Amino acid sequence: MSIITDVIESTKAIIQGMGVTLSYIPKRKWTVEYPDEPVTMQPRYRGQHLLHVDELGREKCVACYLCAAACPSECIYIVAADDPRPPTERIGVDERYAAVYNIDYGRCIFCGYCVEACPKDAITHGYNFELSVYSRADLLKTKDDLLITKQLQSKNYRVALSHEDVDSEYKEV
Ligand code: SF4
Ligand code: SF4
Repeated sequence: MSIITDVIESTKAIIQGMGVTLSYIPKRKWTVEYPDEPVTMQPRYRGQHLLHVDELGREKCVACYLCAAACPSECIYIVAADDPRPPTERIGVDERYAAVYNIDYGRCIFCGYCVEACPKDAITHGYNFELSVYSRADLLKTKDDLLITKQLQSKNYRVALSHEDVDSEYKEV
């Protein structure tokens, strides 16, 4: 190929490329100035998990280990315990509850299998995506990090309106 052909082909490629770039200028922009502006999360987004409580504030988890068994990454660690007190005074809805419930977000792939496996609707995905940390050890979240009554709502995102029945929720506490 001669130099002239080279120059012509390169110029054509540049014009084509610029054409694509310029065609996007009048289109609607989706860039969000995060964290100055909140990000809009879609209702089915799978973020950091939430451990739920019932209307009396009792933990729904009964430490059955089904979520841990379903987890392909083996990143859920549970220690079961018994709470023999009367039902209204218990930590959980049942005598058996999870004294320890950890999820290692260094391994979690956000597949949702744990949510599907839970027979008590005790665990769902929330919307929190702000999981960046400086130390890998900090990716291990404990029950206190996951309980819906203890997680704090970040101001950096909101959830898109949905007419679907969404099973995840993230409450301001
Ligand atoms: S979302 Fe998937 S990988 Fe993460 S804890 Fe649940 S089952 Fe395990
Ligand atoms: S979160 Fe659900 S599946 Fe997992 S141990 Fe608790 S009750 Fe069982």
